[in-house]
Order: sequence, then C-alpha cells, then structure tokens
Amino acid sequence: MDCDKCDREAVMHAAYSGLHLCDDHFCRSVEKRLRRRIRDDDLLPASATPDDPQVWLIGLSGGKDSVVLTKILHDTFAEDPRIELLALTIHEGIEGYRDKSLDACLELTDDLDIRHEVVSYEEEFDLRMDDVVQKDPESMAACAYCGVFRRDLLSKYAEEYGADKLLTGHNLDDEAETALMNFLEGDVAQVAKHFDASLAGFDERSEQDEFVPRAKPLRDVPEKEVALYAHLENLPAHITECPHSSEAYRGEIQKLMLSLEENHPGTRHSIMAGYEELAKLAADEFGAGEGKRELNECERCGAATTRDVCRKCALVEAIHAV
Ligand code: SF4
Repeated sequence: MDCDKCDREAVMHAAYSGLHLCDDHFCRSVEKRLRRRIRDDDLLPASATPDDPQVWLIGLSGGKDSVVLTKILHDTFAEDPRIELLALTIHEGIEGYRDKSLDACLELTDDLDIRHEVVSYEEEFDLRMDDVVQKDPESMAACAYCGVFRRDLLSKYAEEYGADKLLTGHNLDDEAETALMNFLEGDVAQVAKHFDASLAGFDERSEQDEFVPRAKPLRDVPEKEVALYAHLENLPAHITECPHSSEAYRGEIQKLMLSLEENHPGTRHSIMAGYEELAKLAADEFGAGEGKRELNECERCGAATTRDVCRKCALVEAIHAV
C-alpha cells in the first residue's frame, strides 16, 4: 500500500483517520500533532522572551513516551531562546529496571545536549521501591506508593529548578484509559483533579494554582504511534516492564480500549473530547475552582497539602516504621 501523501510505501495505517503514511510523512504527522497541542494549550506565553525564557522540565523515564517527547521538544525548541529544556529522571530503586532506562536517558540527553538531572527515592526518602513492596505497611499496590513519591519529586524539583511547566509523556491511550477508569469508578472529584492537573491546558485557573502547571503534549498521539516513531527515529527508548507493575485494573481497561478501538476506530479520541468538557464542569464544582480548596504546608516537609502531614511524608514514615 502506498502512502496517501506521496508514492512511497506506507509503514502504518491509522484506522481512526483512514490514512496510510510512509515513514517520513508519519513522523512529521506525530511532530505536527505535538506542536499543535503546544499551541492549542498555550504552553508558550507571549511573555516569554530570550531575556526571560520559559523553563520546561521534562519528566524523562527512558521509556518510549518520554524519549519521543524529549526528542520532538528538542527538535522544535533547541534554537528558540524563549525556551530552556531540562530533563529529570527519577530512580525508584527497582533492581534491573531503572538502571537500564537511565542509560537510555543519559544517551538521549547527551546526544541532544540537554541538561539532565537524576534524583532517587533512596537519596530523597531513604527507601527503594524493592523494599517498599516487601514492607507494604498500607497494603497497597506498589504503583500507589510509587506514584505518590514520583509526583512529590516532580513537583519539588520543578519548583527547585524554577520550572514554568512540567511536561510528561502521557499518550492518547494513557489518557483515555485514565478517563474511562475515572468514569467507571464514579470518581467525579478525580475527573476535576485531572483537569486541574493540566488535561485541558493552561487557563488562568491552573496558572494561579500552587503547583507548577503540568502539560502532556503527546496526549493526542496513540501509544502504538509513539512506539513506531521511537523505532523509526532510532531513539534509545527502554521497553522492559517494571517488575512491580501492579495496575491490574488498568490492564483490563487497556484490553477493553483496544477492542473498542478495533471495532469502533476513533473511540479514544471521542472519549477524550467528551472528557475534557466534563472535566471543566467538574473542576468548577469540585475544589479546583478559586477559593474552594484550602492548602496547608506539610508539618514535615513544607509541601502544599490539604492535610497536616502530606501523603508522601505519611507513607515514608509508615514504611520506615516497619
Ligand atoms: Fe513505580 Fe508502578 Fe511504574 Fe513500577 S510500574 S515504576 S512500581 S509506578
């Protein structure tokens, strides 16, 4: 089958758009979608100048999503003095897993000449995820602990590096799965939080928030296309799965989503279109609106929290108490 844009051989067919694309046109289409998302979400404010550049901190895990995000952001903004890119890798302390993906991060940031920082749970919290799963004081899935620690470090270092935006590599599948899980769990407050945490870009509300605003510029690109892009561009992405990956429910949702998408191409896109609208409404109702959420400083670490002691400090203490 030929590419729909030229006479070269197609390497992919997107059922949701009906397009067949060659390697070149496919890669350009991924880049175009990411850049359009940056424009549509107003990630680059008019106030950014070469004298007062925006600092964008990229959460770089070494997996295909964050590697592709970093590469395209670099190709787009390396020559733009209004943007400074900085990559942060978090080492969770998982034997045989993060060390390899860290190598991919080092190779990529070295190639692209991007400043790269590495922080670890061990240095920050005096624990490793391998030990956390053994101790498990709260009888929770490994990812529940890990997510709290990761979010804490991303926020902490985004602030420490003076980042204006925190960018992560969530793709369309990740976002549509999360949306569906929130619906199925009936968790409207979580839907609101999802908006607050950047789903629909950067309006005045998120700029006023206590936290560094987040962005997901790859959220229009399906997971398989991110993987194909990484392959075609020969990027050093690491693909081994974490041994503690424990999101059984997400696994079920993934299967459901794949079968829905196969039988009804475009399902992920339509879920996200509806979800964005609903998240805006939910955010007005559930705590994301101005004055609706009281934030204190954590008594232990000073991080913004709705409790006296933030969730991260409570978990760290519980783990060390075992
Ligand atoms: Fe952490 Fe779960 Fe990701 Fe493993 S799969 S790195 S435990 S969040």
